[in-house]
Amino acid sequence: MSEPRCASYYTASIHQESDYPRLEGEVTVDVAIVGGGFTGVATAVELAERGYRVAIVEANKIGWGASGRNGGQVTGSLSGEAAMRKQMRRTLGEAADDFVWNLRWRGQRIIRQRVEQYGIACDLKHGHLQAAWKPSHMTALRADFEACQARGMGEHVELLDAHQVRDVIRTELYHGGLLNRYNLHLHPLNLCLGEARVAASLGALIFERSPVERIDHGPSPAVITAHGTLRADRVLLAGNAYHRLERRRLGGRLFPASLGIVTTAPLGGLAEAINPQDLAVYDCRFVLDYYRLTADGRLLFGGGANYSGKDSPDIAAELRPRLEATFPQLAGTPIDYAWQGMAGIVINRIPMLGKLSDTVYYAQGYSGHGVATSHIVGEIMAKAIAGHMEEFDTFAACRHLKVPFGDALGNPLLAAGMWYYQLLERWR
Ligand SMILES: Cc1cc2nc3c(=O)[nH]c(=O)nc-3n(C[C@H](O)[C@H](O)[C@H](O)COP(=O)(O)OP(=O)(O)OC[C@H]3O[C@@H](n4cnc5c(N)ncnc54)[C@H](O)[C@@H]3O)c2cc1C
Repeated sequence: MSEPRCASYYTASIHQESDYPRLEGEVTVDVAIVGGGFTGVATAVELAERGYRVAIVEANKIGWGASGRNGGQVTGSLSGEAAMRKQMRRTLGEAADDFVWNLRWRGQRIIRQRVEQYGIACDLKHGHLQAAWKPSHMTALRADFEACQARGMGEHVELLDAHQVRDVIRTELYHGGLLNRYNLHLHPLNLCLGEARVAASLGALIFERSPVERIDHGPSPAVITAHGTLRADRVLLAGNAYHRLERRRLGGRLFPASLGIVTTAPLGGLAEAINPQDLAVYDCRFVLDYYRLTADGRLLFGGGANYSGKDSPDIAAELRPRLEATFPQLAGTPIDYAWQGMAGIVINRIPMLGKLSDTVYYAQGYSGHGVATSHIVGEIMAKAIAGHMEEFDTFAACRHLKVPFGDALGNPLLAAGMWYYQLLERWR
C-alpha cells in the first residue's frame, strides 16, 4: 500500500509536486533503483548524466521518506568518521585520513553545483554553527578548527568563545562554537523533487506508488511490484530505513530511529533577532538538537530521537520544552507543523555500501547525517556501476556488526546502547 506525504512544513511549501506514473507491465533499463529519496535520486542523476538508461521505483512519492522530512542541514560531519578512518586504514593505509577528510567537503560541492547548474529552487544558504553544549565540547571543536587551518580550509571556519557565540545565536545555552561558512542549509523536499526532475529531463524513468515486493537476482536482475516488472543489468537498493527487502543479508545491521521536527508560526522580526546570520545550528551532544530558520521566517527545530523505532505519540509536546529552553523569547509561540521520519542507524555509524550479488547493490545507513552523505554515495555508486570500483570497494570492505535476531532485538539493544552513551556523556 502506498502512503501520501506526511503533513509537514516541507509538504506545505512544495514548489512543484511530483506526479509520476505507477510501474505497469514490463520495462527494461540499464539500472533499476529501488527508493526515491536522496540516495536513489542522486544516483539516478549521476547515471543519467553519464548516459545510462535509469529507472527509479518509489513505493510512495519522490522524497516521501527521510529525504523529504529532515532538518535540511548539509554539513561535513560524516557519521562514524573515526570508525571509518580506522577501518579504511586496512585498505587504504595512510591515505585513509585524506580520503575521509575529503569526503567531509564533497557533499556540499555536489549539491551546490547541481543546484546552480540546473537552477533548483530549494532555499539554499551558506552558514552553520556547531555549538558547544558543555565547556568540554570545545576541545573537539578546537581540534577541528585547527585541522581546517592545517588543511587549507581555514578561510571557511571561525572558532567562537562563549561571548562571541551569543552574537550569532541569541541563546545563553552555549559555551562556544565552530562557525562553518562552507556548510549549507536548504529545503530538502524541494531539492529532492528538483533533482528528480533533473533526472527525468536527462531521460530517467520515474515510477511512484510502486512498492517493490521482490528483487530477482542473476545476470539479468529484475525489480518486481504488484503491477509491473523492471528488468535491468544492475539494481541499486536505496530504501534505507523504510524497506524490508533482502532481510537474510541485510537484517540486523540497520535500525530505524524515529526523529521529530516542529516548525513555529512565522516569527516576523524575532527571526532575525534570534538568528541574525541565518545559520543552521546543531549542538555537540550525542543525541542533539538542531534548528534553522525557514525562508518565510519560521523556526524549524528538531531534537532527540526515539531509538525504539516507533514514532512519539506527541512530538510537538516533546520538542516544545527543548525549543523554549533554547529560545525563551519564543515561549508560547504557536507550532504550525510537527512531523516525524525514520533515519537508518548503523551500529558503528559507517555508511553501508555493498553488493547482495554480482548485479544487485545496496547503499544505506547514514545515521542521521545523510543529506551530504547520500549525495556523495550517489556519486560513488554511479562510478561503481560505470566500472570505477575503488571508492565503492573501500566502503564495501568496512565491517558491520550483525545483531542476532536483529529485526526483533536490534532496536531495544540500540536504545540501551544510546542510553549508555548519553549517560557517559554527562560525565565528560
Ligand atoms: C527528522 C529527520 C531529520 C534529519 N535531519 C538531517 C539533517 O538535518 N541533515 C542530514 O544530513 N541528515 C538528516 N537526516 C537524515 C537524512 O534525512 C537521511 O540520511 C537521508 O535522507 C536518507 O536518504 P535515503 O534516500 O537513503 O532514504 P529515504 O529518504 O528514507 O528514502 C528511502 C525511500 O525508499 C522508499 N522505499 C522503501 N521501501 C521501498 C520499496 N519496497 N519499494 C520502493 N520504494 C521503497 C521509501 O518510500 C523512501 O521514499 C534526518 C532524518 C530525519 C528522519
